[in-house]
Amino acid sequence: MSTLFTHVTALLMDDDFTTLRDGYVAVEGTSISHVGTDRPQGAFDQVIDCAGKVMMPGFVNTHTHIPMTLMRGYGGGHNLQDWLNQYIFPAEAKLDDRAVAAGTGLGLAEMIASGVTCIADMYMHTPVIARQVLDAGISANLSCGGVYFGPPEDFSPDTCADCRNQRELTENWHGAGDGQILVDASIHAEYTSSAPLWQWMADYAREHGLGMHVHISETRSEHEQCLARHGKTPIQTLDQYGVWDVRAIAAHCVYTTPEDWAVMAEKGVSCVHNPYSNLKLGSGVAPVPAMLAAGVNVALGTDGMSSHNSADLFDDMKLAAILHNGVACDPMAMTARKALELATVNGARALGRNTGRIAPGAAADLILVDFEAPNLIPCHDEAENLVFSAHGSNVVMNMARGKVIYQNGDFLTLDLERIKDEVRRYALPLLFGRGNA
Ligand SMILES: [Zn+2]
Repeated sequence: MSTLFTHVTALLMDDDFTTLRDGYVAVEGTSISHVGTDRPQGAFDQVIDCAGKVMMPGFVNTHTHIPMTLMRGYGGGHNLQDWLNQYIFPAEAKLDDRAVAAGTGLGLAEMIASGVTCIADMYMHTPVIARQVLDAGISANLSCGGVYFGPPEDFSPDTCADCRNQRELTENWHGAGDGQILVDASIHAEYTSSAPLWQWMADYAREHGLGMHVHISETRSEHEQCLARHGKTPIQTLDQYGVWDVRAIAAHCVYTTPEDWAVMAEKGVSCVHNPYSNLKLGSGVAPVPAMLAAGVNVALGTDGMSSHNSADLFDDMKLAAILHNGVACDPMAMTARKALELATVNGARALGRNTGRIAPGAAADLILVDFEAPNLIPCHDEAENLVFSAHGSNVVMNMARGKVIYQNGDFLTLDLERIKDEVRRYALPLLFGRGNA
């Protein structure tokens, strides 16, 4: 399949932050084959006219728990620990594969419609998620969020359920769909496991060439309890076991310290900034400008839709920008360009993916935003409009891995009516009782 985009205005997300004007972008198979003001030679299977629209790379949402879409708006008004223990964990205990499939389908639809082409997800029932993602067409780094609550001396990888999950997930799904699915190793968090699991997961990731996905220093209490238990921060505690010796993403990092950032910069650990979730749960504000200045790669995530209430990464881009400008009393602390980098190129780097930019050879992960929409007129600067004015609903096309999967409100790989029916008739009654159907 080949596609030629004409009359293209595009943010290429290259090192010079180039805007292509009245240009052409060509796609062959799953990759971009041409970018420029000259029309490429040859015939194309389809031609898409981009007049009135702005193209940018699809978003990379680097921290999600996608089936938690089923818990959108549930248990609001609580801090992280109360919200988890009183609302989320009891609901999650009722989940089965069919409900997870329904929640994943709904979450994927929302993400695709708002311009996401690649995610990093951490959740249970991971093979079910992998199947849904494969069919939907976006790329995903999937992990199962390893926990271990038993006595450290009783740990065995043969009896630890999440070690078995990790092995099965890796063997069955790593590299599936010609790399569409990558499996990451994962430790849910320092406070939900102990040293034997950290050591096993670090060794397993290194031996199998996997990335690593961990929640880090999301709340003050979690961070301080780790200091009390181990005399070190979560970043430095896990560093002792080699957890950061592979490509790694650390979600949240709200209470991380300059010493943590030095470890992260040296070892190439990316921070995933989740501003909406952190503010909604009252967790705090991650020191993102300082982390960037310290050489840490910072990407952007929504977190689960239970603590964000939306999968619209436009919300997080805007929030990241205005939040840090406000905290720093500096309108240059987080420019539109930096916010766009968090959501695209930095996310791609965090996940080890050849996406997040528009260049020959990069994955054909592209979105079109309708700049004829009232909220995007006038346009003095495309980046300003994309970060501070646009919403996910302004996305009119999503191409993932060279295939158009969403166009003008239509889902081309998902059956949204069937998904909504499954959510309403099966998943919600299972989790919350008949009254919620
Ligand atoms: Zn999370």
